[in-house]
Amino acid sequence: MRVDVFTIFPDLISDYCSYSLLSNAISEKRLALNLHNLREFGLGKHRKVDDEPYGGGAGMIMRCEPIFDAVESVSDLKRPLYVLSPKGKLFDQQMANDLSKSDGFSLICSRYEGIDERVISNLADGEISIGDYVLAGGELAALVVIEAVARLLPGFMGNSVSPVEETFFNGLLEAPQYTRPSEFKGLKVPEVLMNGDHEKIRKFSLATSLYETLKKRPDLIEKRGGLTEEEQKLLDELKSDI
Ligand code: SAM
Repeated sequence: MRVDVFTIFPDLISDYCSYSLLSNAISEKRLALNLHNLREFGLGKHRKVDDEPYGGGAGMIMRCEPIFDAVESVSDLKRPLYVLSPKGKLFDQQMANDLSKSDGFSLICSRYEGIDERVISNLADGEISIGDYVLAGGELAALVVIEAVARLLPGFMGNSVSPVEETFFNGLLEAPQYTRPSEFKGLKVPEVLMNGDHEKIRKFSLATSLYETLKKRPDLIEKRGGLTEEEQKLLDELKSDI
């Protein structure tokens, strides 16, 4: 997979990606991360990338020429090309799954008070938001998107871990998990998880996953159209046990 990122702070992206599994994915060539410094395409001897907004208002706006020039300098750019923006489509696991099946995509990070609208309407394919809050720049948002997508690439997490059992995969939160010790300050790990009966463990995990989701994110249950008969039965059994 290839990801191109346009930013005035490429080091923010490269530093984060030089750790842990992302760094492995890059060195093992599962992920090609191409960073483009918008400053190099800035105007005049000061490499200016921003200017005052037409019509007045606070702050500065990213100019369109450096961004168009930077993007157009890459002949084999992977699309879709997204602008990170709080006004964009809310990024979620489904979008991460879809992007992880492509061979690449590209991201534009803005700063200041945002970006000239002509970049959004005439150069980009869409806008992505990572949540309903305003950050100071798009780099953190770009990293969120890159990591959420890259960790779905084959081999990223090693063969032993599967995203199939994770939160959001089937519209549910993951079941609570435990590790050693089996008892801590009188708090015990559920017996069923330690007895090696895989069918019982599967049922228990599904039931606790349903329970967690109903308790913490009932909107997810509603979104997937409620519970099946089997799920309701498992949940009732779990409730009668606790
Ligand atoms: N004035 C803009 C507005 O009200 O919509 C906010 C600009 S923000 C201070 C600067 C940049 O940070 C944005 O242009 C965008 O690239 C990035 N950014 C801020 N919040 C974001 C979010 N929730 N998701 C993605 N990018 C975000």
